[in-house]
Amino acid sequence: MISIEKLTFQYDQNQLFQDFSLTIHESEFLSIIGPNGSGKSTLLKLILGILKPSKGSIAIFEKEIAKMKRKAISRMVSGVLQDFNPAYSFSVEEIVAIGRTPYAKAFSDFSKEDYRYIEEALTETGLLDLRKKPFEHLSSGEKQRVLLAKCFAQNTPLLLLDECVAHLDPGHVQHIMEVVKEKNRKDKVTIVAVFHDVNLASLYSDRIVVVNHGRVSYLGTPKETIHKPLMEKVYQANGTVLTHPCLDVPQVLLNRLDRPQKPSAGLIIHE
Ligand code: ADP
Ligand code: MG
Repeated sequence: MISIEKLTFQYDQNQLFQDFSLTIHESEFLSIIGPNGSGKSTLLKLILGILKPSKGSIAIFEKEIAKMKRKAISRMVSGVLQDFNPAYSFSVEEIVAIGRTPYAKAFSDFSKEDYRYIEEALTETGLLDLRKKPFEHLSSGEKQRVLLAKCFAQNTPLLLLDECVAHLDPGHVQHIMEVVKEKNRKDKVTIVAVFHDVNLASLYSDRIVVVNHGRVSYLGTPKETIHKPLMEKVYQANGTVLTHPCLDVPQVLLNRLDRPQKPSAGLIIHE
């Protein structure tokens, strides 16, 4: 579905990607993980067409992004990026309506179908009661739900999420992740999500790609990618990797370096 081929990109002198290739399958939930500064957000911006590669190509459904018009890209791919701050005071429903602009001739020129998508997006994200509230008065979790609803209204086959649950409490994390997973399951929307939390990536992804120094370090199912070498070689962290007791996926617990790291008997530890 998305084919990234031999991508090269740099900011000024800072070479981030060289000959970077990755194929993303239709309807999958793919997570991107890797250390801070490894280029995860940059990769999403390249897929969104906000940044341009100096070499190589990115194609969605065999159409090269670099050759597509802005509106055409916006009908294919939506994204929640980090640090969204609207310049004016918009209400929740106004922000969600922005998702329909790639389909409308003018901002106010919405069709019945546009309004149906806006209503559906507000419903799916549990925002009906907050629709008239100014965006800037919302909590972080509510803001993330609004940005997600804007993407849902955009109705794209590909949705990119950049650390969309960072800084949220566990209840809000779980709620947002379930809404995203349901979108993936129900509407077959392909999800490409950046996480700094490897456990969340493991819990929700079909596949995980580990990016480090502009290269793919590991790529595969959570079991194939979340392991001791990932923690040690990529993150330089000392952790214990276990199987989630209810779900058959790996989870990482950080160790304390000043305490003995002898696990209790009965736990399945992955080396
Ligand atoms: P990640 O999302 O994995 O933490 P980023 O893609 O944000 O990483 O950044 C990768 C590298 O590129 C970092 O070293 C960062 O400082 C640098 N970088 C990011 N954005 C810019 C920019 N607009 N101009 C120059 N350098 C940037
Ligand atoms: Mg980032």
